Amino acid sequence: MSKLDSLKSIRQLHQAYESGEWTPTAVTQHFLDQARPNRLNAWITLCEQRALNQASLAEEVLKLNGGKVPRATHPLLGVPMGIKDNLAVEGVRMTCASRMLESYIAPYSATVVERLESAGAITLGKLNLDEFAMGGSNENSAFGRVLHPTHPDRIPGGSSGGSAAAVAAGECLVALGSDTGGSIRLPASYCGVFGVKPTYGRVSRSGLVAFASSLDQVGPLARSLDDAAQVLAVISGHDPLESTSLGLPPIAGMGEAEMKGLRVGVPQELSWLGAAPSVREAMESCVEALRSAGAEVIPVSLPRVKHSIAVYYVVAVSEASSNLSRFDGVRYGSRSPHAVSARSLEEFHSVNRSLFGAEVKRRILLGTFSLSSGYSDEYFLRAAKVRALIADDLDSALSSVDCILSPVAPTPAFRAGEKTKDPLEMYLNDLYTVPANLAGIPALSLPWSRDADGLSIGVQLMGRSGADDQLLSIARSFGRVRGEDLV
Ligand code: GLN
Repeated sequence: MSKLDSLKSIRQLHQAYESGEWTPTAVTQHFLDQARPNRLNAWITLCEQRALNQASLAEEVLKLNGGKVPRATHPLLGVPMGIKDNLAVEGVRMTCASRMLESYIAPYSATVVERLESAGAITLGKLNLDEFAMGGSNENSAFGRVLHPTHPDRIPGGSSGGSAAAVAAGECLVALGSDTGGSIRLPASYCGVFGVKPTYGRVSRSGLVAFASSLDQVGPLARSLDDAAQVLAVISGHDPLESTSLGLPPIAGMGEAEMKGLRVGVPQELSWLGAAPSVREAMESCVEALRSAGAEVIPVSLPRVKHSIAVYYVVAVSEASSNLSRFDGVRYGSRSPHAVSARSLEEFHSVNRSLFGAEVKRRILLGTFSLSSGYSDEYFLRAAKVRALIADDLDSALSSVDCILSPVAPTPAFRAGEKTKDPLEMYLNDLYTVPANLAGIPALSLPWSRDADGLSIGVQLMGRSGADDQLLSIARSFGRVRGEDLV
């Protein structure tokens, strides 16, 4: 099984199934063996028996099809995957990395999980995250921080840190994450894998525990762009169970984008001058490579995008405070053992809600404040208005260019503990990623280079709303420029 360690893509896996070299059960066993020791603390729950049952079903499907993978009905047959632990998998614990949901068993599966499993994918288990997806470093998990796959003293990024670390370390082939302000793209960049946040509404949120409903999107993390595209093709498309689901067809996958004449926008205001020298170098090398491959690199102006962090941290916390109000230990959420001795309703709530960690509490307080009477016009409503202006900036820039290029994060993966004392410093890390969520446009993180310490540095591409397929095709041509076919 030694070659399984270097497995890079679904395509390669399927070839090995068809040649009879590997079987779904052997592959599932291999990945479970990699995941079980939990070296990076990427996993919160493994569902071994469930995964092995799915593997034997995959074997049946292979047998019924004469050893061939029936790509039309089971495009992800026998693909071992991990699911961020804020997405429901029927019958499996879903914690959101919170004491509040420590023993909660999901009664149904998220639409995305259902679609992946019907396509033949195998759910290995649930992946660690920042509590309720609030964070960018995975240090806010009640189950402990996730380690960076190659530099264990560093953060893997968050909030989908378990997803990125597990994919990078070969503990699953693909993973699902969620992205409210960068939670797929940041860890993908830090860990050196691909991460895609689709257009808002393109992928169902049914069965995703809500953080900030107008920003949340589910998307893949993978070792190859093609794998990410294949997962997207399965999970995207209209879902009648979700009120904001768009009527668009599923994302078709990747085509070819011609680099010659491609118009790549580089935001003047979001220039990478404030970024770490290694990130600046990565961006400069990327721009140079694009130019010499014939792309036009065009400065674009996004004058209101500088307000993105301020706007995001009002909108996101306001929506979070409302979404998380349901966890009161009565209807939803755990009940604290101290609740029995509460002498008033207020004390009862306060004891139960102290099961939340510090960052979640901070956001609930901030959000409650910004929505409170007398303040909501000044904070929430004003933020909503500026959000529309930011979306306008991005939309109009994208009417004259094919995509917008920026860094994903201002630095490569930083050391654990480095930013935990100052929440604002942590929030500033989301500078490049939150604009796409505010505007609802698709964005992805593509590994571009490594710094002197071997830490991965990704670049971000943002595309037009609904043009997820085009964005993937452009990203593929970026890979070609870098000297690698990403298929
Ligand atoms: N880092 C951002 C935050 O803490 C993004 C989180 C996310 O995308 N879920 O809000």
